[in-house]
Amino acid sequence: MPHYIGRFAPSPTGLLHIGSLLTAVASYADARAHGGQWLLRMEDLDPPREMAGAADNILFTLEQFGFEWDGAVAYQSQRHALYRATLGSLKAAGLAYPCYCSRKDWHAAAQMGADGFVYNGACRPNSVFRLPHDAHKAPAWRIIVPDETIAFADKIVGHYAQNLAHDIGDFVLLRADGHWAYQLAVVVDDAAQGITHIVRGQDLLVSTPRQIYLQRCLNAPTPHYAHLPLLVNVQGQKWSKQTLAPALDLSAQETLLRQVCAYLNIPPAPEVNRPRDVLDWAVANWDMARVPKQAICTE
Ligand SMILES: [Zn+2]
Repeated sequence: MPHYIGRFAPSPTGLLHIGSLLTAVASYADARAHGGQWLLRMEDLDPPREMAGAADNILFTLEQFGFEWDGAVAYQSQRHALYRATLGSLKAAGLAYPCYCSRKDWHAAAQMGADGFVYNGACRPNSVFRLPHDAHKAPAWRIIVPDETIAFADKIVGHYAQNLAHDIGDFVLLRADGHWAYQLAVVVDDAAQGITHIVRGQDLLVSTPRQIYLQRCLNAPTPHYAHLPLLVNVQGQKWSKQTLAPALDLSAQETLLRQVCAYLNIPPAPEVNRPRDVLDWAVANWDMARVPKQAICTE
């Protein structure tokens, strides 16, 4: 077994921007600096939110910036059977149950938690809140979460903990509209691909205890985590499609790579011939301990 398998997992809901480049560079540099593999996974499970041509554009852009990934790109859209089998095993273990609540039903009385409203468990088997439901409607499927603290040591953020029952509630595995929840797909794929190290943005930190819990339910190992600081605009908002992050300029690869390396506190690269040389420099000079913990304003 290789000692280090990392990955970069973009969603084709838009083109790569400066925030995605930071995640790509950091996950790549950490993997290569450890002599590890770096896999690429396209998280294309939400077709209504996807942008035509974005997946191919993302691969092309990564190549233009000098990235080389190991093996074939994994597409989540081709892995439904694996997600279905996993949900089946969670049902068989008595951990998953159908939920017929509409948002309107349960949001009204719900408490705000770590990541939106905490589901009150109305549809849990034997729940005292159990509501009459329309059995003709397709349910969402939720997982029963324990009333216990799930903690881990993040390489950048440090100690992070949640009580899933209090902070999150029973969370969705399969949405009522038939789409797989991110939490299920990412855990199944990380396990199937043997991912040992996850380097990604701090917007996903709040999801990690749910993913660790799912790993435990599925007897999958828990990878090492490092959650990178987010790049934000002057309003403090994360750069994303919603905040109109510009797509990476393919005529400014070296400048953009140098900019991202500076955010990660990688010493400036000497004069180079190709963007790829800046990446190689980032690998040779990578030090996770120098990565800032707090969000970085890019304006
Ligand atoms: Zn429900």
